[in-house]
Amino acid sequence: MHYDTVIIGGGAGGLELAAQLGRKLGRAEGRERILLADRSSFHIWKPTLHEVAAGTLDPQQEGLSYTFLARRNHFSFVLGDLVELDPTAHELSLGEIRDETGTVLVPRRTIGFDRLVLALGSGSNSFGTPGFEHAYVLEQASDAQRFHVRLLNAFLRCAFAPGQSLRIAIVGAGATGVELSAELIEAHSELTDTLRADQRFELEITLVEAADRILGGLPERIAAQAQRALEQKGVRVLTGTKVLAIDAGGLSTSAGELRTDLTVWAAGIKAADANREFGLETNRLNQFVVDRRLATSAAGIYAIGDCAACPWRDGKPVPARAQAAHQQAAWLAQALIDGENGRPAREAFVYRDFGSLVSLGDNEGVGNLMGGLSGRNFFVEGLIAKWMYMSLHLMHHRVILGLGKTAVLALARLLQHRVSGRVKLH
Ligand SMILES: Cc1cc2nc3c(=O)[nH]c(=O)nc-3n(C[C@H](O)[C@H](O)[C@H](O)COP(=O)(O)OP(=O)(O)OC[C@H]3O[C@@H](n4cnc5c(N)ncnc54)[C@H](O)[C@@H]3O)c2cc1C
Repeated sequence: MHYDTVIIGGGAGGLELAAQLGRKLGRAEGRERILLADRSSFHIWKPTLHEVAAGTLDPQQEGLSYTFLARRNHFSFVLGDLVELDPTAHELSLGEIRDETGTVLVPRRTIGFDRLVLALGSGSNSFGTPGFEHAYVLEQASDAQRFHVRLLNAFLRCAFAPGQSLRIAIVGAGATGVELSAELIEAHSELTDTLRADQRFELEITLVEAADRILGGLPERIAAQAQRALEQKGVRVLTGTKVLAIDAGGLSTSAGELRTDLTVWAAGIKAADANREFGLETNRLNQFVVDRRLATSAAGIYAIGDCAACPWRDGKPVPARAQAAHQQAAWLAQALIDGENGRPAREAFVYRDFGSLVSLGDNEGVGNLMGGLSGRNFFVEGLIAKWMYMSLHLMHHRVILGLGKTAVLALARLLQHRVSGRVKLH
């Protein structure tokens, strides 16, 4: 098997790149030219995983099959996990696929390429915390679904144990921790409406952050507003508190012991250890080191999104955000199309920070918008911030589905909430 361009990882960046390249180059010369490979058979936009975890988003309804997206956007899709890469021979291997009994369904495959784009995303950074395996993570859809099942079980147990409350600790008060806290409050309040008075129970959420304030990467005003909103909803925010160890019953922190029923780890990202085995230069977070043209240390191999360390400003790399993955996918798509059409090379990639938006539940958000014509920084909150936050998700769908289908999908989701409630309780 040989393709002109192979993209590994169909997430926020890789899937947008495959769709854009497929539409422009996929049909040329009557053969398949663009291949996308992912270890999952369906796509869910990662910034919605906290909603899947809380049950406010149904992954069965939200997930889009890669084979459908491939047909629509004129690229090919193959299911598989990247297990080996030879950057000199321009060959890679996808591991065998087994069923739940261990029987091999698909053997290991070798694929040749002219160009390769690695868009593998990232996982959690445990910072070597002992007992990390006791915490839930939100790295992929299956993690979020696993947490959701445990959450429903815990809800059920508390509803039949009068006087018991459900204690959840979330480690890390970046956007993921903050948004998950707010989403869990929503899920609990929706569930409470369905319970008899004698079955209702308290939800105690503790957000634990080592830094002296929440939302470290965002302006202080946003952090202060978000903290106020969370505390009003009943979330206990512990800043300046370092988690020293985790066990099955809770956390040991620099401020003392914290007993919990469920612990979620949302404190920082790190790319997969396997990235170090692919013969490319990597940094201490296992990200592929790329230049401003998104090129890795090997000719014809690029990396985008969370798995790439691309220079930005003040010696810092481009942040690991969906916004960055989206911009890199758009830049690289155009650069590869220009190269194909013999046009001169485009200017180097420059990440533009358009601001940050944080969801604080159903109709609430907070954030800042940067730039605009005046170059000023605008503070937004409430429903407007929430709508803008939701529009980022729609923008991603627009790139991979087109405007019409995105509108249908958004309407279907709205109607689904009207019919079966906002929270998935099964
Ligand atoms: C709960 C949560 C909320 C977030 N909220 C925001 C937000 O509000 N705004 C924001 O900008 N960012 C947010 N982020 C961060 C954002 O999701 C990431 O920065 C973004 O998804 C990175 O895109 P990516 O394409 O690099 O990787 P991903 O979107 O993670 O995609 C990686 C893909 O690679 C596949 N893959 C991985 N390894 C292999 C392999 N070996 N072989 C084959 N396939 C592989 C995975 O299955 C996946 O499909 C959030 C993240 C989380 C977890």
